[in-house]
Amino acid sequence: MKAVPIACVKLSEQEIAAVVEVLRSGHLVAGAGVQAFEQQFASLVGAQYAVAVSSGTAALHVAYLAALNPGDEVLVPGFTHISTASMVHFAGAQPVLCDVDRRTFTLSLDDATRKLGPKTTGLAPVHLFGNACDVDGIGAFARRNNLKVIWDAAQAHCTRYRGEDVGRLPDLVTYSFYPTKNMTTGEGGMIVTNDKELYKRCKLLRSHGQSGKYYHQSFGFNYRMLEVSGALGLEQLKQLPAFTAKRRRNAQYLSERLASLDGIRVPFVAEAIEHSFHQYSILLDLAQFRCSRDEFVTALKAEGVEAVVHYPRALNQQPAFGAGHVRLPNCEWLAERIMSLPVHPLLSNEDLEHVSAAVTQVAAEMRR
Ligand SMILES: *Cc1c(COP(=O)(O)O)cnc(C)c1O
Repeated sequence: MKAVPIACVKLSEQEIAAVVEVLRSGHLVAGAGVQAFEQQFASLVGAQYAVAVSSGTAALHVAYLAALNPGDEVLVPGFTHISTASMVHFAGAQPVLCDVDRRTFTLSLDDATRKLGPKTTGLAPVHLFGNACDVDGIGAFARRNNLKVIWDAAQAHCTRYRGEDVGRLPDLVTYSFYPTKNMTTGEGGMIVTNDKELYKRCKLLRSHGQSGKYYHQSFGFNYRMLEVSGALGLEQLKQLPAFTAKRRRNAQYLSERLASLDGIRVPFVAEAIEHSFHQYSILLDLAQFRCSRDEFVTALKAEGVEAVVHYPRALNQQPAFGAGHVRLPNCEWLAERIMSLPVHPLLSNEDLEHVSAAVTQVAAEMRR
């Protein structure tokens, strides 16, 4: 029996044909396809400008460089993908790790307030797993303290807060199109903004600071997107609303089956939020089970369900951050008891039934 996978990419014949057409055209980099993809993505999220780049990590690097100055401090949640924090470093600024909320897994404003210092100029909240941050609270905090906000929406395509897409928030929002994300271009990323100055800076940073051919206004990288990726992105955009709706339905199905299980906590979604369920992550009440989270994951695998841990270590527990030098109690608490179950759009009803039955059975077997 093949396990129900945590992620699944299956390209349609139409997508493959769009890519082949690019290859036949011989126009391989940063052309009309990428431009159309930028325009359609910006209009989808309701932002004015979009800059396509070669990865979500490149998007963060460019966004931080556009918004920050060397020596600045940036408040970053300690429970996220490494590049939310590492790209602050490569922008010449200092990531300051903050704790997160145990229920929403997103930035704790209480801890951000404690970590705010005279050099703090930026804030990098993450809409983790597709759940929106406390957008109102963060916006007010940023305005009060004159902070630039760089939102990491790598996992939050189509996430909404009070009915509005999180992609239209100031100052900059970054996305990833890595294959496991809610839509893909192979590798790829996007920065969106409503600020014309920031938009111009991002465009210069993407391609050697060129404002004209071999005319370099500033220094920059080669972070351009391939035309193949742009073509794939345009095709994926057509399917994104259906992908997102299916993720939401799958999550609802799982929560209906799992919410009543003792010792399992299903994802919390606040009233104001339309979650996009990049991941469906549950928490184990370890006091109720005679196994660790990792043993629970292994037992699920034996039942044919691929659960994956996002993330087994908080950033403060990584060697790159001095492994335990800073304490982030909620991040560490989550890292010990969280796991993601399959929620992707290609799951069948039988798959969903299988996932819920396996979790129910392993929970029963492992109960103290
Ligand atoms: C995936 C991801 C990134 C990095 O994106 P890549 O396209 O893999 O470089 C950054 N932040 C978060 C929260 C992510 O999930």
